[in-house]
Amino acid sequence: MAQINDNYLKLKAGYLFPEIGRRVAAYAKANPSAKIIRMGIGDVTEPLPATIVEAMHRAVDEMSRRETFRGYGPEQGYDFLREAIAKNDYVSRGCDIAADEVFVSDGSKCDGGNILDIFGPRREDNVIAVCDPVYPIYVDTNVMAGHTGAADEKGEYQGLIYLRATADNHFSPAIPNQRVDIVYLCFPNNPTGAVATREQLAEWVEYAQANESVILFDAAYEAYITDASIPHSIYEIPGARDVAIEFRSFSKTAGFTGVRCAYTVVPKTVMGHAKPGASDPGSRGAGTSIPLHQLWNRRHTTKFNSVSYIVQRAAEATYTDAGRQQVRALVAFYLENAKLIREGLISAGLTCFGGVNAPYVWVKTPKNKTSWDTFDLLLKEANVVVTPGSGFGISGEGYFRVSAFNSRENVTEAIGRIRRVV
Ligand code: PLP
Repeated sequence: MAQINDNYLKLKAGYLFPEIGRRVAAYAKANPSAKIIRMGIGDVTEPLPATIVEAMHRAVDEMSRRETFRGYGPEQGYDFLREAIAKNDYVSRGCDIAADEVFVSDGSKCDGGNILDIFGPRREDNVIAVCDPVYPIYVDTNVMAGHTGAADEKGEYQGLIYLRATADNHFSPAIPNQRVDIVYLCFPNNPTGAVATREQLAEWVEYAQANESVILFDAAYEAYITDASIPHSIYEIPGARDVAIEFRSFSKTAGFTGVRCAYTVVPKTVMGHAKPGASDPGSRGAGTSIPLHQLWNRRHTTKFNSVSYIVQRAAEATYTDAGRQQVRALVAFYLENAKLIREGLISAGLTCFGGVNAPYVWVKTPKNKTSWDTFDLLLKEANVVVTPGSGFGISGEGYFRVSAFNSRENVTEAIGRIRRVV
């Protein structure tokens, strides 16, 4: 009989969103006339901008003609897209990133999990730090890869370092007072909506340089930054290209959650260590530093066959003048939702964070209720689905997340209903 990867058995059974789904389904079944508004899962609602759709149509037409048909593309992505990304997202912001350091993919969720392929597989190889609360993928993929022990009674895994993000530190955790090899940072943050200042990111880069750590920087929500002083990329910080890998996605920027396109930047100067006698293919011998770019390139070309030509042309269109304008309008629409949510809930007496540089509003529960009690209250009394903060980690207890990804009509209606019951 085949042996399973029994690390999967360590995963907590009730993953957040299935549990939400279960409770909502049970309520909806018992109350078929209830008009439930879902402000929980962060999925976009608005259609793709016209320029992007036109680019896709043109690409479809190319695929229909023998002369312009495309089969497999380069695994790392077409040059036209890698170049547009490097130029528009990095060089234009003064970041020293080249097109061949950009790897196009079908999603940041996949990249965030797959990146672990290029790091030491054993639990003792790396000390890994995550923030708490956290986008659950960073934790669960490390559990699956065998980098942790079992979960304790609070649901935290042995071996992971949890960096607490609380109202006291404005949801930007302090630098750890121990050495870690890999640290996940996400700014603007899901779920708290917090951002990191230039000074805070510079501290992280300095820490990583001093400890030879690698920062895995998730910038999926960078397009939502409204404050001009906040960096959009970790590479805006001098020295970051030696210590950081950055994940970006078109999902929340351009409405690509269903289209699927993202990218990971692995600068050629970020290094990892090979054990003595191990794996530098050219020079077997002493333990040595290996560019992570070399490994990620190998991984990507071996396990991935890139993103469809049509989708890459669609992503490229986000960088045209018209595309940029339309994408900005889309982001502005969700940001206006976030503002309405934030202001509506504050005026109902709730304490709110985020929602200014991010599409998520992080709300303190009313009357010190638990996150799940508040979830149940809002589901049953307001027919509004939010995300319980405790599902993102123990520091999320006492909070709930409201997503701005919805129609204006739903946002207005949901806020009115929540205000009536808190
Ligand atoms: N990173 C963060 C922080 C997210 O919140 C999400 C999606 O919700 C993703 C990555 C996933 O992005 P993608 O749709 O590219 O897989």
